[in-house]
Amino acid sequence: MSEEHKPRSNFIRQIIEADLASGKVDHVATRFPPEPNGYLHIGHAKSICLNFGIAEDYNGTCNLRFDDTNPHKENIEYVRAIQEDVRWLGYDWGDRLFYASDYFDRLYEYAIELIERGKAYVCDLTPEQMREYRGTLTEPGRESPYRNRSVEENLDLFRRMKAGEFEDGSRVLRARIDMASPNLNLRDPVLYRIRRGAVHHQTGEEWCIYPMYDFTHPLSDAIEGITHSLCTLEFEDHRPLYDWVLDNVSAPCHPQQIEFARLNLQYTVMSKRKLTQLVEEGHVAGWDDPRMPTIAGLRRRGFTPASIRDFCDRIGVSKADNSVEMGILESCIRDDLNRSAPRRMAVLHPLKVVIENWPEGHVEELEAPNHPQDPEMGTRLIPMGREVWIDRNDFVEVAPNKKWKRLVLGGEVRLRNGYVIRCDRVIKDDNDEIIELRASYDPDTLGANPEGRKVRGVIHWVSAAHALRAEVRLYDRLFTVPHPDADREHDFTEFLNPDSLRTLTECMLEPALAEARPGECYQFEREGYFTLDPDTTEHGLPVFNRTVTLRDSWAKIEQKEREGKG
Ligand code: ATP
Ligand code: MG
Repeated sequence: MSEEHKPRSNFIRQIIEADLASGKVDHVATRFPPEPNGYLHIGHAKSICLNFGIAEDYNGTCNLRFDDTNPHKENIEYVRAIQEDVRWLGYDWGDRLFYASDYFDRLYEYAIELIERGKAYVCDLTPEQMREYRGTLTEPGRESPYRNRSVEENLDLFRRMKAGEFEDGSRVLRARIDMASPNLNLRDPVLYRIRRGAVHHQTGEEWCIYPMYDFTHPLSDAIEGITHSLCTLEFEDHRPLYDWVLDNVSAPCHPQQIEFARLNLQYTVMSKRKLTQLVEEGHVAGWDDPRMPTIAGLRRRGFTPASIRDFCDRIGVSKADNSVEMGILESCIRDDLNRSAPRRMAVLHPLKVVIENWPEGHVEELEAPNHPQDPEMGTRLIPMGREVWIDRNDFVEVAPNKKWKRLVLGGEVRLRNGYVIRCDRVIKDDNDEIIELRASYDPDTLGANPEGRKVRGVIHWVSAAHALRAEVRLYDRLFTVPHPDADREHDFTEFLNPDSLRTLTECMLEPALAEARPGECYQFEREGYFTLDPDTTEHGLPVFNRTVTLRDSWAKIEQKEREGKG
């Protein structure tokens, strides 16, 4: 991947550089460990860019590892989608695609080892009793009556758990650590539970006991020879358990866990449970709905991989919990598309203009640059005929003030890339609504204004005879408040923005847009950046999604909110 600039340093890179310098490690091996229980979101992108980015920059490796220890919530659709999204972001795991479930046999052997060392036991307490025995932050826990079972009895029971002899929830395997530890994670945490009848997407029905995350993760890291295991801050309190597991079995190595702050993005939610709820309750059209903060949603919305990597670089990596303004993400895509998106004209709210002195049937091909600052992007031909569409918002009968730069009755504007026209007459229906304009054009105005000519402004337009009709979808933030899940009294779905999607069905696009493909973005002049949706409407009309507006409307909203005027 070509880097435009050197990635910013951060405390994790500093640790890694120090470890390389001191000889603590002689290479760097990281991993990105998603659980396949949902699609990846922009928060995962932060972790992906961090892990794969570090591997790239220090000539190391980064594994993609599915952390698939919960057969109930996981499935193969997510496994597929996650790979597609990581690859789309521009990262390559080569032949290092792994599943924690690949290690189920070895994990089982490590559990046996713990039992043999007197470090794990089978416990028959019910889940309620376990909670009760666990104690609280201020009170120590109590030891389970099963804690002092003999090694032989534990081995026998654990083997029978594996053989499927016991009901779900009747027994678990627990680490034997310290019920009085101030860290609740060390109060004899569960290592294995029974899940009979579950069908795992990788191992099928082979297993009816499943290892817990806190046991699986350090050992998977060690098996893969990970040097630095990067995770989010909520695992800080789990680090002593991560280390305990590795210290108490014959693990091949002892990776170092380092925690960083997760990404929180304003006006959206990031937990997979909540994103699943949005999909399942039909608040959005699916995981890839362009309003979702998922990678698939952002892709469908028109975001580029480069813009998301740029975003992850700009927000940086630290230990401080924070929440990032949507405006930052949008400015990343705007910067990228401003450089790369070809310009096109599209009329979103069409109003017909008949140019009465244009010869009937006459069509001219006007040459227009694809990018005003980048001649290398070439030109295209735009057909013009006697009837053109302009945007309703670009016409008023009487200018409201001197600053009005668009068309008025009796006034002149330039049609972008074309001629100057004057509006001569307004045609209205019975309700006094304007339905058509009559105009005349000046054939001497192609390219430049004749001297002394007072033209109010330049507006975009599309030839009516050649227009490509399309549906255009305009997106707004999905929630009406910056922190929809911060309110304990209300479900986050109560803050959904009812106007997050506006659909315009009568849009008229210049014919060159018939060649648009999903994944390519265009600037519709004066309207924003747009991309073709992979789906068409039920009538077969193409659909364009607005990726982002031209200017930063968020910055203004957020500024107001900061100043308490919101
Ligand atoms: P969620 O809370 O959305 O369910 P998770 O942490 O359970 O997320 P995983 O699939 O386990 O989801 O995450 C894979 C990796 O991505 C983990 O290393 C996790 O720490 C990291 N990650 C998840 N969410 C974020 C986030 N918002 N910011 C940064 N990293 C994240
Ligand atoms: Mg997780």
